Amino acid sequence: MVGPNDFKDPKLARGLIDSIQALAPEHATLMEVCGTHTVAIARNGIRSLMPEGCRLASGPGCPVCVTSNHDIDAVIALARVPEVILTTFGDMTRVPGSTSSLLKEQAAGRDVRIVYSPLDALNIAKENPERQVVFVGVGFETTTPLIAIAIKRAKAMGLENFSVFAAHKNMPNAMDVLMRDPNLKVDALILPGHVSTIIGMEPWRFLAEKYGIPGVITGFEPLDVLEGIAMIMRQLHEGRAEIENAYTRGVMPQGNPVALAAIDEVFETCTATWRGLGPIEGSGYRIRDEFAQFDALRRFEPTIEPTKEPKGCRCGDVLRGIMAPDECPLFRKVCTPENPVGPCMVSSEGSCAAYFRYY
Ligand code: SF4
Repeated sequence: MVGPNDFKDPKLARGLIDSIQALAPEHATLMEVCGTHTVAIARNGIRSLMPEGCRLASGPGCPVCVTSNHDIDAVIALARVPEVILTTFGDMTRVPGSTSSLLKEQAAGRDVRIVYSPLDALNIAKENPERQVVFVGVGFETTTPLIAIAIKRAKAMGLENFSVFAAHKNMPNAMDVLMRDPNLKVDALILPGHVSTIIGMEPWRFLAEKYGIPGVITGFEPLDVLEGIAMIMRQLHEGRAEIENAYTRGVMPQGNPVALAAIDEVFETCTATWRGLGPIEGSGYRIRDEFAQFDALRRFEPTIEPTKEPKGCRCGDVLRGIMAPDECPLFRKVCTPENPVGPCMVSSEGSCAAYFRYY
């Protein structure tokens, strides 16, 4: 049986590091697309194992970080609706909007509660029939199916006091835009394991076919990441550009059809605005008309304040991989996890927070 320490075996790690060193080209930039990879790389010191001339750059895969300021302001506006209990994952409470944050709103007396799943929010709605419960739905395909299931369950139960602020995004369309950015020089991609368990391998293939960029889907243990990097180095060494899967224990080529069907039943794709990347057609999910009563924005139509971006924050450049967090003039001096200026310093998956903690 495979145990947790098998993914940290020093002998296997040594072998993979040797392969990386032997196969690496003179110069290469590998982007880790996913925020969980950013943290795994930082926590395990993998950046320092990269051969000279090769570097790792973070990408746009932290869902809290890519949520636009306008969407944060919309969530704050929903928290201000008098009868609303606003439920959210913890990271979102500290993200600064244009003039406030959910934490400040909570201090001002709004009912903001941290939950660990949309089903927790559903239970709060059941227990508080006289109140309106809104769940903040932010994330990629890893969380979108759970929210689809919560909405379907609410409909089946006839629950009239539950709704969702839907700001879900899908990664492949954002990567398509990112790959066309003339400022970005990326030679290969470490692709996210969690998202790929849902969407499978196919939606990534265009990266190799259209842009000639190799990509490897990998997991989050130290050996997973090293194996993914070694496979990328082999592709670069052999002049290949393919999408490969180093996370076969989690990712099937076709993804998870049940989860994909749940997403498709409740959501349709739409244009979504990403922090740092702007509006991207087909990169977001909105609630279908058949489930419109569960769409918090359509239910409450709150007044959203005009958007102001955090002054001096370079999260947009960090999310596009064209700047490392410690190149931001505010990093560590003004912007810290205790006093975050932008979301990349707030989120547990944010690059700035990972740099602050581990470098
Ligand atoms: Fe924004 Fe702070 Fe990161 Fe600078 S260090 S990009 S201000 S979050």
